[in-house]
Amino acid sequence: MHPLAKLDRAFVWHPFTQMRDWLQHEPIVISSGHGAVLRDVQGREYLDANSSIWTNLHGHNHPQLNAAIGRQLRKIAHSSALGLANEPASRLAAQLVQSANRFYDPNLGSAHKSQIVNRQLSRVFFSDDGSTALEVALKLAYEYTRRTRGTSLGRAARPRFLSLAGAYHGDTVGAMSLGHIDLFHKSFSGLAFKTDRVMAPYCYRCPFNRARPERADARTYRQCHWECLDQVEQKFSARKQRDAYAAFVVEPLIQGAAGMIPQPAGWLKRAAEIARSHGALLIADEVMTGFGRTGGAKFEIRNSRSPLLFACQHECVQPDFLCLAKGMTGGYLPMAATLTTQKVFDAFLGEYEEFKTFFHGHSFTGNQLGAAASLASLKILEGAASVRQRARLEQALAMELAMLWDLPNVGDVRQVGLIAGIELVKDWRTREPFALRERAGIHVCEAMAERGVLTRPIGNVIVLMPPYCTTDAQVRQMVGVLRESVRANFRG
Ligand code: PMP
Repeated sequence: MHPLAKLDRAFVWHPFTQMRDWLQHEPIVISSGHGAVLRDVQGREYLDANSSIWTNLHGHNHPQLNAAIGRQLRKIAHSSALGLANEPASRLAAQLVQSANRFYDPNLGSAHKSQIVNRQLSRVFFSDDGSTALEVALKLAYEYTRRTRGTSLGRAARPRFLSLAGAYHGDTVGAMSLGHIDLFHKSFSGLAFKTDRVMAPYCYRCPFNRARPERADARTYRQCHWECLDQVEQKFSARKQRDAYAAFVVEPLIQGAAGMIPQPAGWLKRAAEIARSHGALLIADEVMTGFGRTGGAKFEIRNSRSPLLFACQHECVQPDFLCLAKGMTGGYLPMAATLTTQKVFDAFLGEYEEFKTFFHGHSFTGNQLGAAASLASLKILEGAASVRQRARLEQALAMELAMLWDLPNVGDVRQVGLIAGIELVKDWRTREPFALRERAGIHVCEAMAERGVLTRPIGNVIVLMPPYCTTDAQVRQMVGVLRESVRANFRG
């Protein structure tokens, strides 16, 4: 066994990992990466098919990102944001605000004038990762609601939050409280605060979808009456005015850790309208979906528009809080941001002795290296070459994924931009799922790793989320290996 693998096994405790299983194998020890390829200490190469848990955007060892971090490193790596400003964080905040306020189509007429898009995100609070970005939004929304709804009304003394069934928003206690995945969250429920959940659209397994399974993405053949939206409306309507929800938390367009579950077109806009009509704030968790992941670059090229970087923008929804992390630095460094409105910001202004300050912050808030990487990443994202690359990759992925439909153990193939989830089932005609203990997803991913493609399953769902630099040949290899691994696992 490689000495580094021995060290890992002796001392490291891995996240979301049954360590007894881990200790039975020699782990893959990554030593370097280039583009979409990871290399291990044995010299083996792998395709990074989930972009290192959904973080990497432009590929590993990107010359522009490397150079930007190097330049910043020669000046300073970090100084505190408690009491001090710094150059890259100030510039990054300005750029994020600019990108977040760019809409799909400024000529959309009445839709554009609606309250959904008529909101400016104007302030940026930096933190360290996805969980902390949500934690900040949660605490701001909580306190904003208490301050603005007023206790004289008897309202919102303890503002409540609504999130989606199957939601995952991180592992810190606040973010975890917004989550509804029993496997992850149930054992910690005593630590968490109570939040409500509402049905999320999951067309493939929706009890209201009367369509029989077809060899297509379930969103395209579903037969329903948007009962999922009725349930959102009912959930909000059921609250008495004095304890109306403070905020509705959603992952726009596609729920990630829930199992790569996409929303049918129009759901987000309507759900946002419902929340707003009941006076709730909207918290968009774009930790996974942000920075071009949800695609649409082809449309941007056709219409000579600057690229839309956020999922909400695809449905002209502007949230009150936009939570960003993962890909923000191009996937290089831990850094996150929570964007919010001037209205929220103003609620925290006052005389010092009123103590309206937002008493929250982290040691590495506004870190210069992370901010320099993020600025470089945004520059790449906005460039014509990256926009073209994303359009091409989205198309290549769609073409290759179509090859999976002839596998009887593939029940649903769902793609949103540069994100794909492939749901494995016992038989596509019945949609019968594998029990978790059968480890169907894990076995397929292990077989893929043996064939040089790395990704992690979510239960029975295999995730493909390639870095934007992935070539057509590499996409072909990713999907080909997935196909081979499914066949090898379920043969006979
Ligand atoms: N929100 C979403 C949608 C996520 O996918 C994740 C991480 N998978 C998080 C929040 C938490 O991010 P982090 O792991 O960086 O804390």
